[in-house]
Amino acid sequence: MELLEESVVPEAARPVKRQAREFADEHIVPARAERFQSGEYPTSIVEAAREEGLVAMEIGEEHGGQGRSLSEVVAVIEEFFRADAGIGLALVGQSFGTNILEAFGTEAQKRGYLRPVAEGEVTTGMAISEPDTGSDLAGMETAATKEGDEWVLDGEKYWIGNGVSADWITVYAKTDESGDRHGNYSLFLVPTDAPGYEAEYIPEKMGMRASEQAHITFDGCRIPEENLLGPRGDGFRMVAEFFNHGRARVAGHGIGLAAAAIEEAWAFVHDRKEFGKEVSEFQSVQHDLAEMRTEFESARSLLWRTVERIESGEDARKWGSMAKLKATETATECAETGIGLHGGRGILDDQRISRVYRDARMPVIYEGVSAVQRDLIYRNF
Ligand SMILES: Cc1cc2nc3c(=O)[nH]c(=O)nc-3n(C[C@H](O)[C@H](O)[C@H](O)COP(=O)(O)OP(=O)(O)OC[C@H]3O[C@@H](n4cnc5c(N)ncnc54)[C@H](O)[C@@H]3O)c2cc1C
Repeated sequence: MELLEESVVPEAARPVKRQAREFADEHIVPARAERFQSGEYPTSIVEAAREEGLVAMEIGEEHGGQGRSLSEVVAVIEEFFRADAGIGLALVGQSFGTNILEAFGTEAQKRGYLRPVAEGEVTTGMAISEPDTGSDLAGMETAATKEGDEWVLDGEKYWIGNGVSADWITVYAKTDESGDRHGNYSLFLVPTDAPGYEAEYIPEKMGMRASEQAHITFDGCRIPEENLLGPRGDGFRMVAEFFNHGRARVAGHGIGLAAAAIEEAWAFVHDRKEFGKEVSEFQSVQHDLAEMRTEFESARSLLWRTVERIESGEDARKWGSMAKLKATETATECAETGIGLHGGRGILDDQRISRVYRDARMPVIYEGVSAVQRDLIYRNF
């Protein structure tokens, strides 16, 4: 059974998809159980992926990257998240947010910040969410104030991927109090060694344990004025645009996880015997598997239709949200059914399905909870 079969993936993206599958089999699969248990960041796997050109793939060739298309990136994501979502998140997080720098940065910013990420020398992240506000992009409180030729940041960010280990991060902060909730925010490139930048790991998570998130505090954190990214006041618009594409990627997280849940459920029920027959022979079990497969194929078709729309330059706002909503909720449903089909075995820590079950709780949250996706779909109907 090959759930992530190629026919739905554009031909040009198939070679890198195959490369990602081989990489996952060689590096991710053997390490995933141990990394989940230890919660240790998968540094050696990130290094290996860098060497094979499987991280920060989307950065343009003119900036030292590979200029991989969205199809290629999504094809790789599906494979990584099928193998293991925690390690997958660590891998895709290497360049999180750089699309904004590439689209809106000055040449000097791209030289100084983007190129080193493309060349695998540094790690980055994106800091939007805060301890007291997550879903409401126009409700963030971290402020940036202009003092002479510097910006001074004060506030807190929470959940920030690579917030401790990154060399620099893109920070979303309030620069005005104009009353226009959407025109008050700007983006900044913040080196993590800037004075006033402090980050600590957030408490251990129930899932995606091999990935790293941080609680960041900005206490009079000073950065040069030229680190403003894009026009002042355009932060909300730039982030919203970034999420339109980003959500197709997160849909890929859901598809990879759903595939893992189905594979595990299928293997278990075809191996286990109860009442003198294989568990797979019960009709209700067969219907569960049929339902999982149907939801999976619907979600995957929607994802690849969305990728096609984004790549053809259409306004794909609602599509990104629909793909993310459907794929990530399908992952949680498949994980729920899958763990149920495992009986008592499902709750054992060393079972892949128990990791998938816990990991699947995350993509329904990040880059916008499902309620926010439903709001966006309705608003862009
Ligand atoms: C593993 C992980 C990695 C992350 N990485 C990053 C990162 O790198 N950078 C970053 O900036 N953030 C990151 N996040 C944060 C993530 O984007 C937020 O958690 C998310 O936006 C939700 O915000 P919240 O947790 O504050 O929940 P809240 O927004 O407080 O939501 C709480 C509840 O309110 C409900 N709710 C919210 N809005 C609505 C609405 N409009 N209608 C109905 N109900 C609503 C939600 O459904 C939810 O049940 C990460 C999160 C996780 C779990």
